Amino acid sequence: MKRFAIAVDGPAGSGKSTVAKMVARKLGIIYVDTGAMYRTVALHCTQEGISLEDEAAVVASLDGLNMRIQPDTEGQRIFLNEEDVTAKIRTAEIGKGASVVAAYQKVRERMVELQQEMAREQSVIMDGRDIGTVVLPHAEVKIYLDADAEERAHRRVGELEAKGETADFEEIKKMIIQRDYNDMHREHSPLKKAEDAVSLDSTGMSIEEVLQAILDITAERVREK
Ligand code: C5P
Repeated sequence: MKRFAIAVDGPAGSGKSTVAKMVARKLGIIYVDTGAMYRTVALHCTQEGISLEDEAAVVASLDGLNMRIQPDTEGQRIFLNEEDVTAKIRTAEIGKGASVVAAYQKVRERMVELQQEMAREQSVIMDGRDIGTVVLPHAEVKIYLDADAEERAHRRVGELEAKGETADFEEIKKMIIQRDYNDMHREHSPLKKAEDAVSLDSTGMSIEEVLQAILDITAERVREK
C-alpha cells in the first residue's frame, strides 16, 4: 500500500492517544505523539530552572535539547538528551507547562520540522492540536476527536490514578478546561478542526467504537487514492 498519514487532533483527554496507538498497531504504522514533544520541552526547562514564561530563555534552551523519538509497540518512547523521559512527562503539571511553551512560535517551528520529517518516509498516525491544519495538511485522513469536558476529566483522573498519582476531579477538570482554552485561543497554530477533518464526538462511545470509526474512514480514504 502507498504511504499515507492519519492526523488526529482534539482537546486534552478526548482519547486521541489511546485510539491512535490502537490504530497504529492494527495497521502496522508508526504512532507519533506530538504532545510528548512539547511536554519534553517543558520538562527540560523545568529541570534547567528556566521560567516557562520567559519566551526568549525557553527558545534559547532548545539549543541544548536533543530530543529522540523511538516508535515502540506500546506507542513511542521519548528521550531527552538520551534519558528516557516517557513516564516523567506524564504529569498534570508538565501538561500545563507544555501548553505554555507550545504557544511560542519558535518552539513550534522546531517541533513541526521534526514531526514532518517523521512522516516523510513512513506511514504514520500522528496526534496533537495542529496536525491536520499545519503539520500534515495533506494527510489522507483527518480526524477531530472531541468529548465533553466532564468525561474527559474522568478519563484523565483514571489515567493518573492508574499510575499511582492522586488526582482531584474538580481540579483536573478545571486544568483541562483552562488548557483547552489556551490551546484554542493562542496566536500560533491554535487548536481547531481542519476544514476537511471528520468530527468524532467520543462522549459515550467505547474506545472500540472510536477505533472502528477511524479504521472505516481510513479504509475509505486510502482506497479512494
Ligand atoms: O496531548 P498532550 O496533552 O500531551 O499535549 C500537551 C500540550 O502540548 C497541549 O495542551 C498543547 O498545548 C501542546 N500541543 C500542541 N500541539 C501539538 C500537540 C500538543 O500545541 N501538536
